[in-house]
Amino acid sequence: MTTKTIHVELSKSKKEKPNTDQLEFGRVFTDHMFIADYVEGKGWTDHRIVPYQPLALDPAAIVFHYGQTVFEGLKAYMSTDGKVRLFRPDENMKRLNKSSDRISMPPFNEELALKALEKLITIDKEWIPTAEGTSLYIRPFIVATEPYLGVAPSKTYQFIIILSPVGSYYKEGIHPVKILVENEYVRAVAGGTGTAKTAGNYASGLKAQEVAAEKGYSQVLWLDGVERKYIEEVGAMNVFFKIKGEVITPVLSGSILEGVTRKSVIQLLEHWDVPVTERKISMQEIYEAHQKGELEEAFGTGTAAVISPIGEFNWKDEKLVVNEGKTGELSKKLYDELTGIQTGKNEDPFDWVVEVE
Ligand SMILES: *Cc1c(COP(=O)(O)O)cnc(C)c1O
Repeated sequence: MTTKTIHVELSKSKKEKPNTDQLEFGRVFTDHMFIADYVEGKGWTDHRIVPYQPLALDPAAIVFHYGQTVFEGLKAYMSTDGKVRLFRPDENMKRLNKSSDRISMPPFNEELALKALEKLITIDKEWIPTAEGTSLYIRPFIVATEPYLGVAPSKTYQFIIILSPVGSYYKEGIHPVKILVENEYVRAVAGGTGTAKTAGNYASGLKAQEVAAEKGYSQVLWLDGVERKYIEEVGAMNVFFKIKGEVITPVLSGSILEGVTRKSVIQLLEHWDVPVTERKISMQEIYEAHQKGELEEAFGTGTAAVISPIGEFNWKDEKLVVNEGKTGELSKKLYDELTGIQTGKNEDPFDWVVEVE
């Protein structure tokens, strides 16, 4: 299945690369991109790497009207030995297909997606920043391109991969964030699309994010959509709590996105013999643990930040400060271990890393 050839058209000119210390998240893109087309009845065709360029889409393309689109996010790291490393990219390609299936889009061969990605990265290798904490962010996505205003799955799609050099998430060192517990808006409900990385989930979260930012909070803590009681996620990250030595994360209840970082954190904790439990956990329980002085740490997990320690929750105007607003010991240990494995500094006992040849 992966014998498909990937045609390469190299860019005639090279863009100027940004200074490493000025890199932000997702604003600058490399010289090339990968594209494949899908046509119903024919499958995926015309796999190609071309100069980075705008798309020409019909204004009636289904993606613009009904949001039939999915995406992924992962990173490539350039290590001191000159090797390019990907962290569990197979998990991302698997999840891409899961997301696609949820919104009636065709699957893309996972092996071929990886092959295309590796080829693209090799071509744009000199774009991978090398400074501590920097990486090449990878954004694979699929859009519905058929010009049709009827509400139906598109008969044509494009699968695209773009690359963006990103700066260190923690320029001034790893620091805890302040979180507003969201009691009005919800991110997803079981039976909806919360388990898929599809655009609409993020559009629907913007309003709450905006309100939180106005109040000086960097993210919102999402509660369940039925009772506004149980904790789901924090911003676009999964969330963990350490209470009396036990680490707890919300169980995948049908409305939570299954993060690769979440899965890796659980595996690491088990490996270290730290008790870790996936279960329903209410905000009331967190509140009570905090009152009793038993809430030791809280942190978010996701590809962008890896581990994001939480220093404060605001729940119904009450402020719960966690670990005196400082980064917890376990949060720091997880951050160091995961980033160590990703960059090749630490051993990789789980075979998570894929080296780009
Ligand atoms: C992508 C994402 C995550 C984190 O997933 P990772 O695979 O760890 O990057 C968590 N929650 C939401 C809503 C997401 O979109």
